[in-house]
Amino acid sequence: MLASNLDPLLDHAPCGFLTFGSDGKVVSVNSTLLSLLGYDRHDVVDQHVERIMAIGTRIFYQTHWFPLLTLHGHVEEVFLMLRARDGENVGVLTYAHRREEEGKALFDCVFVRVQERAKYEHELLQAKRAAEESAAQLEAQAIELELQQNQLQQRTEEAEHFRRMADEANKAKSSFLATMSHELRTPLNAIGGYLQILGLGIPGPITDKQRDILERLEQSSRHLLHLINEVLNLSRIEAGQVDYHIEAVSVEKLVASIRPMIEPQLEKKQLAFDVNIPAGLTVQADIEKAGQVLLNLMSNAIKFTEPRGSVEVRARRDGSNVLIEVSDTGIGIAQEKLRDIFQPFVQVDSSLTRRAEGSGLGLAISRDLARGMGGDLQVASDPGKGSTFTFQLPSA
Ligand code: ADP
Repeated sequence: MLASNLDPLLDHAPCGFLTFGSDGKVVSVNSTLLSLLGYDRHDVVDQHVERIMAIGTRIFYQTHWFPLLTLHGHVEEVFLMLRARDGENVGVLTYAHRREEEGKALFDCVFVRVQERAKYEHELLQAKRAAEESAAQLEAQAIELELQQNQLQQRTEEAEHFRRMADEANKAKSSFLATMSHELRTPLNAIGGYLQILGLGIPGPITDKQRDILERLEQSSRHLLHLINEVLNLSRIEAGQVDYHIEAVSVEKLVASIRPMIEPQLEKKQLAFDVNIPAGLTVQADIEKAGQVLLNLMSNAIKFTEPRGSVEVRARRDGSNVLIEVSDTGIGIAQEKLRDIFQPFVQVDSSLTRRAEGSGLGLAISRDLARGMGGDLQVASDPGKGSTFTFQLPSA
Protein backbone atom coordinates (compact mmCIF):
# COMPACT_ATOMS: atom_id res chain seq x y z
CA MET A 1 0.00 0.00 0.00
CA LEU A 2 1.39 3.39 -1.01
CA ALA A 3 1.88 5.84 1.78
CA SER A 4 -0.63 8.64 1.93
CA ASN A 5 0.53 12.20 1.53
CA LEU A 6 -2.34 13.30 3.73
CA ASP A 7 -2.13 14.82 7.14
CA PRO A 8 -2.31 11.88 9.68
CA LEU A 9 -5.46 13.38 11.16
CA LEU A 10 -7.28 13.24 7.80
CA ASP A 11 -5.68 9.95 6.89
CA HIS A 12 -6.95 8.13 9.97
CA ALA A 13 -10.06 10.15 10.80
CA PRO A 14 -13.08 7.87 11.49
CA CYS A 15 -14.59 8.66 8.07
CA GLY A 16 -13.46 8.30 4.48
CA PHE A 17 -11.85 11.17 2.52
CA LEU A 18 -11.43 11.23 -1.21
CA THR A 19 -10.59 13.95 -3.72
CA PHE A 20 -11.19 13.65 -7.43
CA GLY A 21 -10.78 15.96 -10.38
CA SER A 22 -13.28 17.16 -12.96
CA ASP A 23 -12.33 14.20 -15.18
CA GLY A 24 -13.50 11.90 -12.36
CA LYS A 25 -10.06 10.59 -11.55
CA VAL A 26 -9.19 10.14 -7.91
CA VAL A 27 -6.39 12.41 -6.72
CA SER A 28 -6.11 11.25 -3.13
CA VAL A 29 -7.84 8.93 -0.71
CA ASN A 30 -7.39 8.34 3.01
CA SER A 31 -6.51 5.06 4.66
CA THR A 32 -9.84 4.83 6.49
CA LEU A 33 -11.78 4.62 3.19
CA LEU A 34 -9.29 2.18 1.70
CA SER A 35 -9.52 -0.19 4.62
CA LEU A 36 -13.32 0.18 4.74
CA LEU A 37 -13.51 -1.03 1.11
CA GLY A 38 -10.51 -3.36 1.19
CA TYR A 39 -8.62 -1.60 -1.64
CA ASP A 40 -4.98 -0.71 -1.94
CA ARG A 41 -4.19 2.91 -2.64
CA HIS A 42 -3.14 2.17 -6.23
CA ASP A 43 -6.46 0.43 -6.88
CA VAL A 44 -8.16 3.78 -6.38
CA VAL A 45 -5.76 6.67 -7.00
CA ASP A 46 -5.71 7.72 -10.64
CA GLN A 47 -8.75 5.50 -11.27
CA HIS A 48 -12.21 6.86 -12.01
CA VAL A 49 -14.15 7.47 -8.83
CA GLU A 50 -16.97 5.33 -10.27
CA ARG A 51 -14.78 2.34 -9.70
CA ILE A 52 -15.57 2.30 -6.01
CA MET A 53 -19.33 2.74 -6.61
CA ALA A 54 -22.04 0.09 -6.91
CA ILE A 55 -23.79 -0.08 -10.32
CA GLY A 56 -26.92 1.84 -9.27
CA THR A 57 -24.83 4.54 -7.65
CA ARG A 58 -22.76 4.96 -10.82
CA ILE A 59 -25.90 5.84 -12.75
CA PHE A 60 -27.05 8.14 -9.98
CA TYR A 61 -23.57 9.74 -9.94
CA GLN A 62 -23.76 10.49 -13.64
CA THR A 63 -27.32 11.69 -13.84
CA HIS A 64 -27.72 13.56 -10.54
CA TRP A 65 -24.94 13.67 -8.07
CA PHE A 66 -22.07 14.97 -10.19
CA PRO A 67 -24.19 17.45 -12.18
CA LEU A 68 -25.51 18.81 -8.85
CA LEU A 69 -22.04 19.07 -7.45
CA THR A 70 -20.76 21.01 -10.44
CA LEU A 71 -23.83 23.24 -10.47
CA HIS A 72 -24.01 24.10 -6.76
CA GLY A 73 -20.44 23.50 -5.73
CA HIS A 74 -21.55 21.24 -2.92
CA VAL A 75 -23.87 18.30 -2.22
CA GLU A 76 -24.71 17.22 1.29
CA GLU A 77 -26.03 14.17 3.07
CA VAL A 78 -26.59 11.98 0.03
CA PHE A 79 -26.74 8.26 0.46
CA LEU A 80 -24.48 6.37 -1.93
CA MET A 81 -23.75 2.69 -2.22
CA LEU A 82 -20.02 2.00 -2.59
CA ARG A 83 -18.58 -1.30 -3.72
CA ALA A 84 -15.87 -3.03 -1.76
CA ARG A 85 -13.18 -5.07 -3.37
CA ASP A 86 -14.89 -8.34 -2.43
CA GLY A 87 -18.09 -7.16 -4.23
CA GLU A 88 -19.97 -6.27 -1.00
CA ASN A 89 -22.06 -3.12 -1.00
CA VAL A 90 -21.19 -0.51 1.63
CA GLY A 91 -23.71 2.23 2.32
CA VAL A 92 -22.25 5.68 3.02
CA LEU A 93 -23.58 9.15 3.62
CA THR A 94 -21.69 11.53 1.35
CA TYR A 95 -20.75 15.18 1.69
CA ALA A 96 -18.93 16.73 -1.29
CA HIS A 97 -17.47 20.14 -1.98
CA ARG A 98 -15.81 21.72 -5.01
CA ARG A 99 -12.69 23.82 -4.79
CA GLU A 100 -10.25 25.36 -7.23
CA GLU A 101 -6.58 24.61 -7.09
CA GLU A 102 -4.18 26.06 -9.62
CA GLY A 103 -7.05 26.80 -12.00
CA LYS A 104 -8.37 23.24 -11.79
CA ALA A 105 -11.56 22.08 -10.12
CA LEU A 106 -11.17 19.50 -7.38
CA PHE A 107 -13.94 17.69 -5.56
CA ASP A 108 -13.40 16.73 -1.92
CA CYS A 109 -15.71 14.04 -0.58
CA VAL A 110 -16.38 12.77 2.93
CA PHE A 111 -17.96 9.32 3.38
CA VAL A 112 -19.59 8.36 6.64
CA ARG A 113 -20.57 4.74 6.94
CA VAL A 114 -24.23 4.05 7.71
CA GLN A 115 -24.11 0.50 8.88
CA GLU A 116 -27.42 0.64 10.72
CA ARG A 117 -29.40 2.36 8.01
CA ALA A 118 -30.53 -0.78 6.23
CA LYS A 119 -31.53 -2.37 9.53
CA TYR A 120 -33.46 0.71 10.58
CA GLU A 121 -35.13 0.90 7.20
CA HIS A 122 -36.18 -2.72 7.49
CA GLU A 123 -37.51 -2.20 11.01
CA LEU A 124 -39.26 0.97 9.95
CA LEU A 125 -40.82 -0.86 7.05
CA GLN A 126 -41.95 -3.66 9.34
CA ALA A 127 -43.33 -1.23 11.88
CA LYS A 128 -45.13 0.61 9.11
CA ARG A 129 -46.59 -2.62 7.79
CA ALA A 130 -47.67 -3.67 11.30
CA ALA A 131 -49.24 -0.25 11.83
CA GLU A 132 -51.06 -0.55 8.53
CA GLU A 133 -52.27 -4.02 9.45
CA SER A 134 -53.56 -2.91 12.83
CA ALA A 135 -55.16 0.12 11.23
CA ALA A 136 -56.94 -2.24 8.85
CA GLN A 137 -57.98 -4.46 11.76
CA LEU A 138 -59.21 -1.45 13.69
CA GLU A 139 -61.18 -0.33 10.71
CA ALA A 140 -62.73 -3.80 10.38
CA GLN A 141 -63.59 -3.74 14.09
CA ALA A 142 -65.08 -0.29 13.74
CA ILE A 143 -67.27 -1.50 10.88
CA GLU A 144 -68.29 -4.55 12.94
CA LEU A 145 -69.07 -2.32 15.93
CA GLU A 146 -71.13 0.00 13.82
CA LEU A 147 -73.03 -2.99 12.50
CA GLN A 148 -73.69 -4.24 16.03
CA GLN A 149 -74.69 -0.77 17.13
CA ASN A 150 -77.19 -0.59 14.29
CA GLN A 151 -78.60 -3.98 15.25
CA LEU A 152 -78.79 -2.91 18.88
CA GLN A 153 -80.59 0.27 17.96
CA GLN A 154 -83.00 -1.72 15.85
CA ARG A 155 -83.67 -4.09 18.76
CA THR A 156 -84.10 -1.18 21.16
CA GLU A 157 -86.62 0.35 18.78
CA GLU A 158 -88.43 -2.98 18.51
CA ALA A 159 -88.43 -3.40 22.29
CA GLU A 160 -89.69 0.16 22.68
CA HIS A 161 -92.44 -0.56 20.16
CA PHE A 162 -93.53 -3.72 22.02
CA ARG A 163 -93.32 -1.93 25.36
CA ARG A 164 -95.58 0.81 24.01
CA MET A 165 -97.99 -1.81 22.67
CA ALA A 166 -97.99 -3.63 26.03
CA ASP A 167 -98.50 -0.32 27.79
CA GLU A 168 -101.46 0.51 25.62
CA ALA A 169 -102.90 -2.99 26.03
CA ASN A 170 -102.51 -2.66 29.80
CA LYS A 171 -104.26 0.70 29.82
CA ALA A 172 -107.06 -0.73 27.66
CA LYS A 173 -107.39 -3.66 30.08
CA SER A 174 -107.46 -1.31 33.06
CA SER A 175 -110.13 0.93 31.60
CA PHE A 176 -112.17 -2.13 30.59
CA LEU A 177 -111.93 -3.41 34.18
CA ALA A 178 -112.81 0.03 35.54
CA THR A 179 -115.96 0.17 33.41
CA MET A 180 -116.87 -3.44 34.13
CA SER A 181 -116.53 -3.17 37.86
CA HIS A 182 -118.43 0.06 37.89
CA GLU A 183 -121.25 -1.66 36.01
CA LEU A 184 -121.14 -4.64 38.41
CA ARG A 185 -121.37 -2.42 41.47
CA THR A 186 -124.80 -1.05 40.69
CA PRO A 187 -126.72 -4.37 40.62
CA LEU A 188 -124.67 -5.66 43.53
CA ASN A 189 -125.63 -2.64 45.63
CA ALA A 190 -129.23 -3.32 44.71
CA ILE A 191 -128.90 -6.99 45.78
CA GLY A 192 -127.44 -5.85 49.12
CA GLY A 193 -130.29 -3.40 49.60
CA TYR A 194 -132.99 -5.99 48.90
CA LEU A 195 -131.31 -8.51 51.21
CA GLN A 196 -131.42 -5.92 54.01
CA ILE A 197 -135.09 -5.23 53.31
CA LEU A 198 -135.83 -8.97 53.48
CA GLY A 199 -133.79 -9.23 56.70
CA LEU A 200 -135.74 -6.43 58.31
CA GLY A 201 -138.90 -8.42 57.59
CA ILE A 202 -140.47 -5.53 55.69
CA PRO A 203 -142.10 -7.65 52.95
CA GLY A 204 -143.24 -10.21 55.57
CA PRO A 205 -141.94 -12.31 58.46
CA ILE A 206 -139.03 -14.74 57.90
CA THR A 207 -138.01 -17.85 59.79
CA ASP A 208 -134.71 -18.21 61.71
CA LYS A 209 -133.43 -20.60 59.09
CA GLN A 210 -134.21 -18.07 56.35
CA ARG A 211 -132.46 -15.31 58.41
CA ASP A 212 -129.41 -17.53 58.66
CA ILE A 213 -129.31 -17.93 54.88
CA LEU A 214 -129.95 -14.21 54.39
CA GLU A 215 -126.96 -13.35 56.58
CA ARG A 216 -124.71 -15.59 54.54
CA LEU A 217 -126.01 -14.04 51.34
CA GLU A 218 -125.33 -10.59 52.75
CA GLN A 219 -121.82 -11.58 53.82
CA SER A 220 -121.05 -12.95 50.37
CA SER A 221 -122.42 -9.90 48.58
CA ARG A 222 -120.36 -7.64 50.89
CA HIS A 223 -117.25 -9.60 50.03
CA LEU A 224 -118.07 -9.42 46.34
CA LEU A 225 -118.63 -5.68 46.58
CA HIS A 226 -115.30 -5.26 48.39
CA LEU A 227 -113.57 -7.26 45.67
CA ILE A 228 -115.18 -5.21 42.92
CA ASN A 229 -114.27 -1.97 44.66
CA GLU A 230 -110.65 -3.07 44.86
CA VAL A 231 -110.56 -4.09 41.20
CA LEU A 232 -112.03 -0.69 40.40
CA ASN A 233 -109.39 1.01 42.55
CA LEU A 234 -106.49 -0.86 40.99
CA SER A 235 -107.68 -0.40 37.43
CA ARG A 236 -108.19 3.31 38.00
CA ILE A 237 -104.67 3.65 39.36
CA GLU A 238 -103.26 1.63 36.47
CA ALA A 239 -105.23 3.62 33.90
CA GLY A 240 -103.78 6.78 35.47
CA GLN A 241 -107.20 8.03 36.55
CA VAL A 242 -106.21 8.86 40.10
CA ASP A 243 -105.56 12.40 41.29
CA TYR A 244 -103.27 12.94 44.24
CA HIS A 245 -103.76 15.90 46.53
CA ILE A 246 -100.31 16.17 48.04
CA GLU A 247 -99.87 18.13 51.24
CA ALA A 248 -97.78 18.02 54.41
CA VAL A 249 -99.20 15.29 56.63
CA SER A 250 -98.25 14.51 60.23
CA VAL A 251 -97.33 10.83 60.48
CA GLU A 252 -98.48 10.71 64.11
CA LYS A 253 -101.92 12.02 63.20
CA LEU A 254 -102.16 9.78 60.17
CA VAL A 255 -101.59 6.65 62.25
CA ALA A 256 -103.89 7.89 65.01
CA SER A 257 -106.70 8.38 62.48
CA ILE A 258 -106.52 4.74 61.43
CA ARG A 259 -106.33 3.29 64.89
CA PRO A 260 -110.11 3.30 65.55
CA MET A 261 -110.67 1.25 62.40
CA ILE A 262 -108.40 -1.56 63.53
CA GLU A 263 -109.15 -1.45 67.25
CA PRO A 264 -111.94 -4.10 67.11
CA GLN A 265 -109.69 -6.65 65.32
CA LEU A 266 -106.79 -5.90 67.70
CA GLU A 267 -109.02 -6.58 70.65
CA LYS A 268 -110.57 -9.65 69.13
CA LYS A 269 -107.13 -11.21 68.70
CA GLN A 270 -105.73 -9.72 71.91
CA LEU A 271 -102.73 -8.26 70.10
CA ALA A 272 -100.31 -5.81 71.64
CA PHE A 273 -100.12 -2.63 69.56
CA ASP A 274 -97.19 -0.21 69.84
CA VAL A 275 -96.73 3.09 68.09
CA ASN A 276 -93.30 4.77 68.01
CA ILE A 277 -93.36 7.92 65.95
CA PRO A 278 -91.18 10.97 66.69
CA ALA A 279 -93.36 14.02 67.26
CA GLY A 280 -93.38 16.50 64.40
CA LEU A 281 -92.45 13.99 61.68
CA THR A 282 -94.27 14.98 58.48
CA VAL A 283 -94.55 13.57 54.98
CA GLN A 284 -95.70 14.87 51.63
CA ALA A 285 -98.71 12.75 50.82
CA ASP A 286 -102.34 12.50 49.84
CA ILE A 287 -103.81 11.96 53.30
CA GLU A 288 -106.60 9.61 52.19
CA LYS A 289 -104.37 7.46 50.01
CA ALA A 290 -101.57 7.27 52.59
CA GLY A 291 -104.28 6.29 55.10
CA GLN A 292 -105.54 3.59 52.74
CA VAL A 293 -102.02 2.13 52.44
CA LEU A 294 -101.44 2.16 56.19
CA LEU A 295 -104.86 0.65 56.89
CA ASN A 296 -104.08 -2.16 54.47
CA LEU A 297 -100.66 -2.80 56.08
CA MET A 298 -102.07 -2.77 59.61
CA SER A 299 -105.06 -4.96 58.72
CA ASN A 300 -102.70 -7.47 57.11
CA ALA A 301 -100.38 -7.39 60.13
CA ILE A 302 -103.35 -8.21 62.36
CA LYS A 303 -104.82 -10.75 59.96
CA PHE A 304 -101.58 -12.71 59.62
CA THR A 305 -100.59 -12.71 63.30
CA GLU A 306 -101.67 -15.40 65.77
CA PRO A 307 -103.67 -14.28 68.85
CA ARG A 308 -101.63 -12.57 71.60
CA GLY A 309 -98.87 -11.59 69.19
CA SER A 310 -97.92 -8.00 68.62
CA VAL A 311 -98.00 -5.33 65.95
CA GLU A 312 -95.85 -2.22 65.93
CA VAL A 313 -95.81 0.97 63.84
CA ARG A 314 -92.53 2.92 63.78
CA ALA A 315 -91.42 5.88 61.73
CA ARG A 316 -88.10 7.59 61.12
CA ARG A 317 -86.48 10.00 58.76
CA ASP A 318 -84.13 8.54 56.13
CA GLY A 319 -82.39 11.24 54.09
CA SER A 320 -85.06 13.11 52.18
CA ASN A 321 -87.64 10.41 52.95
CA VAL A 322 -89.63 9.13 55.87
CA LEU A 323 -89.92 5.40 56.44
CA ILE A 324 -93.07 4.16 58.14
CA GLU A 325 -92.62 0.55 59.24
CA VAL A 326 -95.46 -1.79 60.15
CA SER A 327 -94.15 -4.96 61.74
CA ASP A 328 -95.81 -7.96 63.25
CA THR A 329 -94.86 -11.15 65.03
CA GLY A 330 -97.00 -13.18 62.65
CA ILE A 331 -96.54 -16.08 60.30
CA GLY A 332 -94.15 -14.24 57.98
CA ILE A 333 -93.71 -14.77 54.25
CA ALA A 334 -91.38 -17.22 52.53
CA GLN A 335 -88.42 -15.58 50.76
CA GLU A 336 -89.52 -16.75 47.29
CA LYS A 337 -92.99 -15.22 47.76
CA LEU A 338 -91.81 -11.79 48.85
CA ARG A 339 -91.85 -10.33 45.38
CA ASP A 340 -95.11 -11.99 44.28
CA ILE A 341 -97.28 -10.59 47.04
CA PHE A 342 -97.24 -7.18 45.35
CA GLN A 343 -98.80 -8.73 42.25
CA PRO A 344 -102.59 -8.47 41.93
CA PHE A 345 -104.60 -11.46 43.24
CA VAL A 346 -101.59 -13.14 44.87
CA GLN A 347 -102.22 -14.68 48.26
CA VAL A 348 -99.74 -16.90 50.03
CA ASP A 349 -101.59 -20.03 51.09
CA SER A 350 -101.56 -20.71 54.80
CA SER A 351 -103.89 -21.84 57.53
CA LEU A 352 -104.47 -18.21 58.49
CA THR A 353 -105.44 -17.04 55.00
CA ARG A 354 -108.76 -18.18 53.82
CA ARG A 355 -109.58 -16.98 50.35
CA ALA A 356 -112.74 -15.29 51.53
CA GLU A 357 -110.71 -13.10 53.90
CA GLY A 358 -109.08 -10.97 51.23
CA SER A 359 -108.78 -10.20 47.57
CA GLY A 360 -105.02 -10.35 47.07
CA LEU A 361 -105.26 -6.83 45.68
CA GLY A 362 -104.45 -4.77 48.78
CA LEU A 363 -100.68 -4.75 48.44
CA ALA A 364 -100.76 -4.21 44.67
CA ILE A 365 -102.96 -1.15 45.21
CA SER A 366 -100.90 0.03 48.16
CA ARG A 367 -97.63 -0.09 46.29
CA ASP A 368 -99.10 1.71 43.27
CA LEU A 369 -100.46 4.41 45.58
CA ALA A 370 -97.12 4.73 47.41
CA ARG A 371 -95.30 5.12 44.09
CA GLY A 372 -97.94 7.54 42.86
CA MET A 373 -97.03 9.78 45.80
CA GLY A 374 -93.29 9.59 45.01
CA GLY A 375 -92.66 6.87 47.58
CA ASP A 376 -92.49 3.07 47.61
CA LEU A 377 -93.52 -0.01 49.52
CA GLN A 378 -91.18 -2.80 50.52
CA VAL A 379 -91.22 -5.90 52.65
CA ALA A 380 -88.80 -7.94 54.72
CA SER A 381 -89.83 -11.10 56.47
CA ASP A 382 -88.60 -13.90 58.65
CA PRO A 383 -90.98 -16.82 58.10
CA GLY A 384 -92.46 -17.99 61.38
CA LYS A 385 -91.26 -14.86 63.19
CA GLY A 386 -92.92 -11.95 61.48
CA SER A 387 -92.89 -9.39 58.71
CA THR A 388 -92.04 -5.72 58.34
CA PHE A 389 -93.60 -3.62 55.59
CA THR A 390 -91.81 -0.33 54.94
CA PHE A 391 -93.90 2.47 53.50
CA GLN A 392 -91.62 5.18 52.16
CA LEU A 393 -92.81 8.72 51.49
CA PRO A 394 -91.00 11.98 50.74
CA SER A 395 -90.56 13.97 53.93
CA ALA A 396 -92.26 17.35 54.08
P1 ADP B 1 -105.10 -9.84 50.89
O1 ADP B 1 -104.62 -9.46 52.23
O2 ADP B 1 -106.40 -9.19 50.54
O3 ADP B 1 -105.04 -11.29 50.60
P2 ADP B 1 -102.84 -8.37 50.03
O4 ADP B 1 -102.40 -7.91 48.68
O5 ADP B 1 -103.03 -7.31 51.06
O6 ADP B 1 -104.13 -9.20 49.82
O7 ADP B 1 -101.78 -9.42 50.53
C1 ADP B 1 -101.35 -10.43 49.66
C2 ADP B 1 -100.81 -11.62 50.41
O8 ADP B 1 -99.60 -11.26 51.05
C3 ADP B 1 -101.70 -12.07 51.55
O9 ADP B 1 -102.71 -12.94 51.08
C4 ADP B 1 -100.69 -12.80 52.43
O10 ADP B 1 -100.45 -14.09 51.91
C5 ADP B 1 -99.45 -11.98 52.27
N1 ADP B 1 -99.28 -10.99 53.37
C6 ADP B 1 -99.58 -9.69 53.36
N2 ADP B 1 -99.26 -9.09 54.53
C7 ADP B 1 -98.74 -10.05 55.33
C8 ADP B 1 -98.24 -10.09 56.67
N3 ADP B 1 -98.18 -9.00 57.45
N4 ADP B 1 -97.78 -11.27 57.14
C9 ADP B 1 -97.82 -12.38 56.37
N5 ADP B 1 -98.29 -12.41 55.09
C10 ADP B 1 -98.75 -11.27 54.58
